[in-house]
Amino acid sequence: VTYTRPRLFNRLRGIREFLKVRTSYDVLPLSFRLVVLDNDLLIKKSLNILIQNGIVSAPLWDTRNSSFAGLLTSTDYINVIQYYCQYPDEIGNIDQFRLSSLRDIEKAIGVEPLETVSVHPMRPLYEACRRMLKTRARRIPLIDNDDETGREMVVSVITQYRILKFIAVNNEKYTMLLKKPLRELGLGTYTDLATATMNSSVLDVIHLMVKYNISAIPILDQDNKLLNVFEAVDVIPCIKGGAYDELSSPVGDALSRRSDDFAGIYTCSEDDRLDAIFDTIRKSRVHRLIVVDDDNHLRGIISLSDILKYVLLYGEEDDTV
Ligand code: ATP
Repeated sequence: VTYTRPRLFNRLRGIREFLKVRTSYDVLPLSFRLVVLDNDLLIKKSLNILIQNGIVSAPLWDTRNSSFAGLLTSTDYINVIQYYCQYPDEIGNIDQFRLSSLRDIEKAIGVEPLETVSVHPMRPLYEACRRMLKTRARRIPLIDNDDETGREMVVSVITQYRILKFIAVNNEKYTMLLKKPLRELGLGTYTDLATATMNSSVLDVIHLMVKYNISAIPILDQDNKLLNVFEAVDVIPCIKGGAYDELSSPVGDALSRRSDDFAGIYTCSEDDRLDAIFDTIRKSRVHRLIVVDDDNHLRGIISLSDILKYVLLYGEEDDTV
């Protein structure tokens, strides 16, 4: 009996081989800007710096030890909000917290500190992907050592989106052949979806994100039609002025304060095929895709990690993350 591997699997294998012969360094553009924040900076000030630079995350630097001190992300701000909820009397002190206190905040609210994974830029990209999936990190810092001083050096940070876009741009010969519709692939989450309405408070939505360990909550109307999506990064403008008490206001108000250059929300249907999804990734900065039916009723969510996991692990004998 001769066994022929399914064609789909071969195409995915082509992409996996590509990821094994490219490095994280290859993903970086020719020139780029990297904002690194001093670990001694006040958390309050970090919010404004992120907003002014149009970014949602930054590596932290410990100047005393000249070393990388972790990655600041929206999860850290959500932790600060949880701290405020547990210790509302501390509001006066929250203003004085520095980025270096983030680890103490994690301890105080009882969350497991996120593992700070990093990769060397010259290691295979495949390794960075596997490590991201394993730790559920959405972005991974590239850390090198300076030849002369031997000290750590933050080269850049790569996100799941940058990797998927790199795959989409360089592997069109494979991705254009991924013609199966989402319905058949089972890609994404379709049951037990965490959702909210325009009247839910920002805090309700944040608590849902924490409970489910996810970074986006679809906002629906009373007929389960999709109106918007609240993302973890949306908390940044909410707390930039230190008005933590406003977090009990409706999420609809917070969404209306989004900046004008907000990229929008990407939807797709269960009949769309994976090649079309890769087309979208090639052309636009997608954070996730919300699956809706013809009447805009919510059906499911496809996160970038779902896509990355599929590309890396589908059909492998050992498909554990
Ligand atoms: P990002 O979307 O920021 O890249 P991620 O890829 O880790 O991050 P999450 O949004 O944290 O995505 O999703 C993790 C898992 O939870 C995925 O399998 C995704 O399909 C699922 N998921 C995402 N949002 C929801 C939701 N609102 N309800 C239920 N499950 C969700």
